[in-house]
Formats: sequence, structure tokens, C-alpha cells
Amino acid sequence: MHVVKDDIVEVMAGDDAGKTGKILVVFTGRHRVLVEGINYINKHVRPSQKNPQGGRVQKEAPVAASSVLVVCTNKNCAKHNRGVRTRSKREKGKPMARVCYKCGHVIAAAAEV
Ligand SMILES: [Zn+2]
Repeated sequence: MHVVKDDIVEVMAGDDAGKTGKILVVFTGRHRVLVEGINYINKHVRPSQKNPQGGRVQKEAPVAASSVLVVCTNKNCAKHNRGVRTRSKREKGKPMARVCYKCGHVIAAAAEV
């Protein structure tokens, strides 16, 4: 996967294209991610102790991992705060890092990229 939990990503496809949000959950096996504030659905729920009224609840639904890109945080980058493709960079004695394809800025040192 090119993204991990807590990444800030831009959605590149679908109804929420162009929006950014933080990854809440990564579903590795299904290649989907749950992004804060993205892809809201109305879930119909029965009344429960937590929600005595029941009815419709707005809730995020997972989106395909392939339709989100990590956001570049480098202020000087042409793609600042936009989704960018990343490549990985390996340096001796340091964990594997992801860098912005455009500017080479290190986005996050993530062990499992
Ligand atoms: Zn960049």
C-alpha cells in the first residue's frame, strides 16, 4: 500500500475528488481506506442504547486506496497540499521513507511502505 494510517491524502476520483482528509483506517486486504470526512453515506440504524432514536446516521465509507494520494507538505513544491505520487527512498541507517515525486521532499518515514 502507498498510504498508511494518519496520512493526509487527496481524493483523486469520485464524488469527493479534490478533497483532502486524514486516513482513519487502512483495510490492506481489500485495498481500501477510510478517510475522515470523505465519502459520507447515510447508514440506517435500529434504535440502540447508544442511539435510542435510530434512524439515519452520517458515516464515512471506505474508498479505494488507488483513488487517494498522499499530500506533499513542502511549501515550495508545485504540488503543495495536493496529492502527489511518491517514490521510496532508502538511506543507510534510516527507515524507508516516501518522498514526493515532484520535489523529493520526504513525506513520512513509514516502516511498511
Ligand atoms: Zn512535493
